[in-house]
Amino acid sequence: MVHEIASKAVFLITIDALNLNHLKVYGYNRNTAPNLEKFITQGSIFINAFTNGPETPSSFSSIFSSILPFLNGGYSPMPSHKLTFPQILKENNISTYGIHSNPNLGEFFHYDRGFDVFLDGERYKIGKSHSNNMGFKQNVSFTIRKIVNFRNLFKSLIYRLYGFNKIKDFLRKKFPLITELLLLFTPIAYNAPYIVNKIESYLREGKSKIFFWAHFMDLHSPYNPPSENIIKFRQHDFAPREKEFLNKNIYSNPSKYRITKEIFNDFNILYDAQINFLDEYLGHLFKIIKRNFRNNCLIIITADHGEALLKHGSTGHQGSIHDDLLKIPLFIIETGKKSSLKKIEAVVEGLDISCTILNYFDIEIPETYQGRSLIPLINGDKFKEKNFIISECYQKNGLLKRNNNEGYKLISIKKDNFKFVFNEENDTEFLFDIKSDPQEIKNLIKIYPSKANKFREIKNQHLINILESTSEKSKIIKAIPALNLKKIKL
Ligand SMILES: [Zn+2]
Repeated sequence: MVHEIASKAVFLITIDALNLNHLKVYGYNRNTAPNLEKFITQGSIFINAFTNGPETPSSFSSIFSSILPFLNGGYSPMPSHKLTFPQILKENNISTYGIHSNPNLGEFFHYDRGFDVFLDGERYKIGKSHSNNMGFKQNVSFTIRKIVNFRNLFKSLIYRLYGFNKIKDFLRKKFPLITELLLLFTPIAYNAPYIVNKIESYLREGKSKIFFWAHFMDLHSPYNPPSENIIKFRQHDFAPREKEFLNKNIYSNPSKYRITKEIFNDFNILYDAQINFLDEYLGHLFKIIKRNFRNNCLIIITADHGEALLKHGSTGHQGSIHDDLLKIPLFIIETGKKSSLKKIEAVVEGLDISCTILNYFDIEIPETYQGRSLIPLINGDKFKEKNFIISECYQKNGLLKRNNNEGYKLISIKKDNFKFVFNEENDTEFLFDIKSDPQEIKNLIKIYPSKANKFREIKNQHLINILESTSEKSKIIKAIPALNLKKIKL
């Protein structure tokens, strides 16, 4: 017998590096995710959703604290004075669960705050530069990992032995908990069967108000999907050597190779097959959700950022602020509501997600939060779009950096059809007309000087806000903690 086990629930399902252009519902030619496509038909699809950071640390900091990454003390590690929405949920007696395996979102980076249950990637991988700040437990696990990974044994086995891959795929599907062991060797991949298994077991606890955050790393590089998903899009599976070539040579150094049509296609098939693998488990998860929550359950499905897949000669998602990374898929489904797929064109952003969750639980949104609830939009009510959307991260030489000392500011400001980019590293500015030039090739900064000036004003005001919120204000905040809640206006 089906019975309600909770009075209200929210699932935040985030998929690392999901490029929306690889989903049929956003216009792709392959049906990579049939279960997802089916599940969302009674919900809302946002066709203009943007992340506030092009990679994991900057994006999640804005999702969790609803304040732009550079403001109020930076984002990685996320300062402990940045109030996260799970902290607020917990204060309001909602049971909170977080499951993922992304090292950037672990306890070390302060993402555990507010969670009753938090299974993270921290114990699997901590960057060398942070090893000095680690505790004893973290140091031991880091050392073990270093020794075990000494010769990249697991990676070598993955790429060179066809049979090894088959066994690994079989094990993680049949025995999801094996992922706990596999994560030690491949810290940022293959967690879909594990996460779905865990969610199902936690739901048996039968709490009355629940928030679940599940973050899936299955699309993240290295791209190594099971054979059965590859052959849905290609006649034969790749030979281990072909996979190694695409993952090591092409992924790491795309500019060194002539990207033929065949290489481009194979590279994209590897990625698509990963979506297809994940989709199988999303299908299981959706069934579990439907079984447990016939109504009063909100499911938000999104990505922290996209993925560059050789379209502009680049790969991955580091140190760039291209729209391939900034535009994200976003779906919101509420169980028990019978409607057809609603297309929402309003421009929305990562900052809005936490506000939507708090609003659904009828919790007041703190003044420090810069986002807005999307509930009015899915209900067809009025919603005021922001005048512009800011996305930002630190980078150096195209590589992810975590703060002002390590890297330079890379800022994108989007307003109407235009996108302004400021790169602090070489003090360069770009202006693109996204509508007529979606590839962001033609720099119009000199062609539209007055428009460029308007964007410059927004950027300068933002830089002032960063300075104020990080230096003087942080000192004042220390002295008078209540000021922490004062809204920093843009
Ligand atoms: Zn990510």
